[in-house]
Parts: sequence; C-alpha cells; structure tokens
Amino acid sequence: MQRRKFLKNSGLSAAGMVSAPLLSSCKNETKAVVSEKSVVPNQPIVVCTWDFKNASAKAWEILDNGGNALDAVEQGVRIEEADVTNETVGKGGRPDRDGRVTLDACIMDKDGNCGAVVYLQNIAHPISVARKVMEETPHIILAGKGAEQFAYEQGFEKEDLLTESTKAQYQEWLKTSEYETIINIENHDTIGMLAIDEKGDLAGACTTSGMAYKVAGRVGDSPIIGAGLFIDNEVGGATATGVGEEVIRTVGSFLIVELMRQGKSPQEACEEGVKRIMKKNEGREDFQIGFLAINKQGETGAFCVHPGFSYRRYNQSGHDNVPSKSFYTKTEDGVVS
Ligand code: ASP
Repeated sequence: MQRRKFLKNSGLSAAGMVSAPLLSSCKNETKAVVSEKSVVPNQPIVVCTWDFKNASAKAWEILDNGGNALDAVEQGVRIEEADVTNETVGKGGRPDRDGRVTLDACIMDKDGNCGAVVYLQNIAHPISVARKVMEETPHIILAGKGAEQFAYEQGFEKEDLLTESTKAQYQEWLKTSEYETIINIENHDTIGMLAIDEKGDLAGACTTSGMAYKVAGRVGDSPIIGAGLFIDNEVGGATATGVGEEVIRTVGSFLIVELMRQGKSPQEACEEGVKRIMKKNEGREDFQIGFLAINKQGETGAFCVHPGFSYRRYNQSGHDNVPSKSFYTKTEDGVVS
C-alpha cells in the first residue's frame, strides 16, 4: 500500500486549536508563567510535549527536591502511562489493527546511556522497562516477547492494557478499518520529556502507544534513540511527537541537538528540523510533527507542522503551556497556508 494512501488525511478540519495557558490543578501547584522571560538560566527545568500538567508537575517535584533528571523524566512520564484516560500512551493506549496494545519507549541519561523497548505488550510502564534495559543489560533495545519476558524477570506485572473505552473504539473502527493519522489527537499524544537537574545534567524520556490501529509490528520514532529522543549533556536535548516515519527519516531529535551544537537556539533548531522534513514532503499537509528542544542553559523551543502543538514547561518561577509556532498556519475558515 502506498504511504500517502495509507497515511490518509483525516484531521485537518478537526485540528485542535492551541489551548490557552492553564493553571495547573496539580498538588504541586506554583504560579503560572506565560512568557519567554520565565526562562531561568542554569536552574532545574522540565519540559514535555503537549500540555501534560500532571506529568510535568511530578517531574518538577523530583527536581525541586534535588532529585536527578533521570528519575524526574522516568517518574514524570509514568504518570501518563498510568492514566487510562490518555489513549495515546501506556495503559489505555489505542491498539494496533489486530486489537493489541503495543507500547514503545526510550530513555537517555547524561552519559549517553540509553535503553528502549519496542512492540512491548501487557506491561503498563514501558519507560521503566526501558530504564532497566539501560541499567541491567549490555543492550539498548529489547523488542516484543523478549522485552516482555525481560520485564517479568525484572518484577513487572502482567496487565491487560485495553480498556472498555479503547475496546469499544476498536470495535467501532473495525467497521471501516480505515487507517487515519489524526492531527493533534485530543491535543495530546506521545509524551517526550526533557529535564535539567540542579547539577546541570540532562536526561530525557519518550513513551507512546504509537499510531492507533497501526499494522501489527509497526514501530515509530518514539523508542528510537536519535529519532524520538536525543540527549547530549554538553549541548541539550530534543524529542518529537507526530508521524514517526517522517521523524525517523531525518533522525529528527539528533539533528536538532546537532544544530544546537552548531550554535542554533532550541527554537531555530526545531524550525530547521521541521523544514527539513517539509522539504522531503513538499506540499503535503496531511500529517503533524512537533519537535521540542532544550539547551544546556535551559532555553527551550518548539516547532510543528500544523498549529495545535504545545509544550508544558515547569521551573522555579512556575509553569506554563507554551504554544508552538507552526510551518502551516490556519485561517478561521480552516484554510491551511
Ligand atoms: N510518534 C509516535 C509514533 O509515530 C506517535 C505520535 O506521537 O503521534 O509512533
């Protein structure tokens, strides 16, 4: 099947608008901040793709208590993996076209250590299995049954990841079995998280259930080091969300970190990353990609293909939901230009 046909456009008219900055309802509430002036150089900070308030608040709680960036990103994204109302990550994620929930995740630390799991089933916290791969094995990626077996050996419990809601949606989907990449699914999606701790060290994590109703066995960018996530403790970090095939084709997160190494700001680097992708996809409007980056100084930036992507930022001056600029803009009557 041709990729264009396969990745059928469906979501342009429904593309979500950028939500206004929100005050967090989390326990660890601090004042909301809304401008770039809020960047506090060389201080702990966490950012994540989309407006995942609870996940970023958890990560911030760890950083604020002097914890390290690796623990912060792992514990932060676990919040979304456990949230069954989030149907794009972890337990409650939408299944593949055969009705199986298959999860992808990776994690990377300040020393360039990394771990990943792909096509993992029956385990609610792929990010923690990825960390175990990093810390307990000489390997980087474990896949499928092997990853699941490894998880059980490490003490993870078997769980049914399909919920009543995702089961019902899947049954409905089977009636047409049309494969669609929806832009800005519910205004959230894969969670990629980047943090700097009080020692100035970076870490990142990325976790997803991937594209809903994907071909069985499909793995996207999210667990691929360099594509969905990359950290270089000398320079900064980047992470991605959206159609993973396009992110992999440009090794997006690695590209963005390298652009920052060459002197670009996180914002400039994300913009260049998206432009590289659009150059290979001239005129194509049927997909979304969002990049998020942070440099060693704690400056952040993001860029996406279509309006609707945002990222949540948490530091000692508070937290905010930062709308991302986009390659395409959309007029009120829905025309993309
Ligand atoms: N990047 C993910 C993937 O391709 C999905 C997403 O972020 O929408 O699997």
